Amino acid sequence: MTTKHGAETRFAVDIMLGKLAKWLRVLGFDASTQVLRDRERMEALISEGRVPVTKREKWRDLAGIVFIQRNKSFDQLAELLSTQHLCRDDFRPFTRCSVCNSALFAIPRDAAFGKVPDYVFETASDFRKCPECARIYWPGSHKARMLEKLQSITGREGEEEGEKCLRLDPEED
Ligand SMILES: [Zn+2]
Repeated sequence: MTTKHGAETRFAVDIMLGKLAKWLRVLGFDASTQVLRDRERMEALISEGRVPVTKREKWRDLAGIVFIQRNKSFDQLAELLSTQHLCRDDFRPFTRCSVCNSALFAIPRDAAFGKVPDYVFETASDFRKCPECARIYWPGSHKARMLEKLQSITGREGEEEGEKCLRLDPEED
């Protein structure tokens, strides 16, 4: 079994933590949603090299998983990034469908005509599409608003090198 690190980390997020899974996809992480109810399933995912992420109490002490303690999805994201030592350098926004977790592929600008808001078609030049659900993404589609919010937990641009990883106070909730 090989567990990948950094941007290559693949997660198996408990179906109960759907919003957290969406956040991870926005950042470009492979985050499938799974029903993490039985041990067999958990062990199978771990041996596939996925990191199960759950809030179910019974898995709290299982090795190889991330047990989430916080309640709000954004706090959970911060908690997960912190425990996995994931930094801004590991983020690959605009590469994965936030709904179905598929890797996006580039489409010609003309192919986006009529399928995105007019002002987006006018101003964006880079469009990507989900092979599963056919949603079309552009650099600003979830980047601007969501990444802005993310800045609030990852710190400001231009800060010193060693400060890129999240530092969270575990008692702060
Ligand atoms: Zn999709």
